[in-house]
Amino acid sequence: MQREITGQTTIIGILGHPVKHTFSPQMHNAAFDETGLDYRYLPFDVDPGSLQKAVEGIRALKIAGFNVTIPHKEAIIPFIDQLSREAQLIGAVNTVCRERDLLVGYNTDGAGFVRAFKELTGYGPAGKSFLLLGAGGASKAVSVQLAIEGAEKIIISNRTGKRGKELVEHLKQNFVDTECLYVPLQGSELTRISNSFDVVVNTTSVGMRQDDPRICPPEILSNVITVCDLIYNPAETTLISDAKKIGAAHMNGMGMLLYQGAEAFEKWTGNTAPIKTMRHVLASLTR
Ligand code: NAP
Repeated sequence: MQREITGQTTIIGILGHPVKHTFSPQMHNAAFDETGLDYRYLPFDVDPGSLQKAVEGIRALKIAGFNVTIPHKEAIIPFIDQLSREAQLIGAVNTVCRERDLLVGYNTDGAGFVRAFKELTGYGPAGKSFLLLGAGGASKAVSVQLAIEGAEKIIISNRTGKRGKELVEHLKQNFVDTECLYVPLQGSELTRISNSFDVVVNTTSVGMRQDDPRICPPEILSNVITVCDLIYNPAETTLISDAKKIGAAHMNGMGMLLYQGAEAFEKWTGNTAPIKTMRHVLASLTR
């Protein structure tokens, strides 16, 4: 049951621009209701030029925590007080907690992906080899978390070589125990090395539109055990249907979306997130 807002209600929010398409208010308010916590989650549309003022306002209002979404995930860093290790390594923040009057930035996107991956496979990234298609913000968050959790090898493949190579250099500098390499997305190299990875993760936006081309040739999946797409709308991209055809375990981006939220919920409240309720809300919103 939805609680009445009182003088004691704890306020959580999301800063983004635009923010009207986000599913987070419904997901988190349902989670607060389910756990009986006196919390409410509100959307705040903040223009890029007003971000600093918005953070000052959050301090003044003693708002307990908030999510940060496009386009503020990197821009917010100078305006908060501390960064967690993974937020520092990813260079972006999606969750902020007020801790002893300091605003501490976290990034739960990578951890959200890994929780979904563990749920699907029953094991973690340790000792496994991953091919990540794409080298943007989502790829950085996922690859950093995979390396933190002991992935044996991370291959980054990107349309723009410079961006892909920069991410590989960043990973190499920070994770000496994980083998990191770059392979071009175009050409035959990916097919040639297709026996050297266990898991393929599409972190690009290719597959969101019906007329999008395949992000990779289906041959590269022939030795793969698990295929992941960070896209959740549509629920079944061409990559996921290719994975189904060869009988590979597969997941779309819904699990990552769910578990990045669960991780944030747990940081703000100290309670275990009600996964079933949160999953149900997301499923109903994306149906
Ligand atoms: P981003 O920083 O803009 O990066 C986009 C990536 O896609 C880059 O690697 C880019 O390659 C690649 N790309 C775009 N168009 C391409 C094309 N036509 N051919 C080949 N590569 C192409 O975006 P992002 O924040 O990383 O997000 C990427 C995707 O992840 C989006 O679909 C987003 O919805 C999804 N995502 C899902 C979750 C979740 O919770 N499930 C969370 C975050 C993101 P170049 O470097 O060559 O441009």
